[in-house]
Amino acid sequence: MFKILQKALATGIATVAYPDVPAVVSPHFRGRPEFDFASWRDARPAAEVCPTGAILVGQALSPANRRVTVDYGLCVFCGQCADVSPDGAVRVTTEFELATHNRARLIRAADYSLNADGTHQRLIAEYEAEATAEEAGGKVSEAIRNTLGRSLAIRQVDAGSCNGCEMEIVALNNPIHDIERFGIQFVASPRHADMLLVTGPVTRNMELALQKTYAATPDPKVIVAVGACGISGGIFGTNYASRGGVDATIPVDVYIPGCPPRPEALLYGILLAVGRLAEKVR
Ligand code: SF4
Repeated sequence: MFKILQKALATGIATVAYPDVPAVVSPHFRGRPEFDFASWRDARPAAEVCPTGAILVGQALSPANRRVTVDYGLCVFCGQCADVSPDGAVRVTTEFELATHNRARLIRAADYSLNADGTHQRLIAEYEAEATAEEAGGKVSEAIRNTLGRSLAIRQVDAGSCNGCEMEIVALNNPIHDIERFGIQFVASPRHADMLLVTGPVTRNMELALQKTYAATPDPKVIVAVGACGISGGIFGTNYASRGGVDATIPVDVYIPGCPPRPEALLYGILLAVGRLAEKVR
């Protein structure tokens, strides 16, 4: 016993102070890819290698123009788009604070005029999502966030995940991240939960179970979709076995991009969902 106490004292406090101080992130961590649309010479190679179809190349205003769309809700942060963009217009960053109330805010688009060889001649316009009815819904739920802001019980639901997100969620409870310091606990039953933290594309086999779990969670409740799969179906998409993203089955209040999202990204999204990061709400 004495040795354990001695070791604990020698170790000191292991818990990180995030989000009060910025997270220490390895320079090798792959976070959000950043797109410099103005200097991007050709989006086609990136669209070809993107494993989830997060980069789409389509027709814009006329056949002579091109619209390039990037969806961070589909992105698995693999970095392949940067590897095939030698012009340096695509850069992998270490940014992970991407959670949002509004799915549309994860989408960027740009229109280009084209050269004869299909490369970009000129950026015509760049688009970011405007406020949508979905975002208005997020504002209505402010009362919910005020109610749940002080303490929170989370029921995690694996709707078809590969368990990558679960590994990061488990890390939230270790001494480094220690989510209980915020009064946040994971519970076994949706009847005791304020929040559902849903991972994975929703498999057809889990669809009914997820609907029943949602119904069993008392109001007011907050639903958080975790990872590329939870947001959009990710690499699995929508098919005979998968319903795609969580919001195809139940309403979602907050989306946390990543594949999987690191623990700080999960914490950021959870605190955003209950209004603890009100000043950072996107
Ligand atoms: S980092 Fe994202 S956008 Fe780029 S290739 Fe990978 S999945 Fe596609």
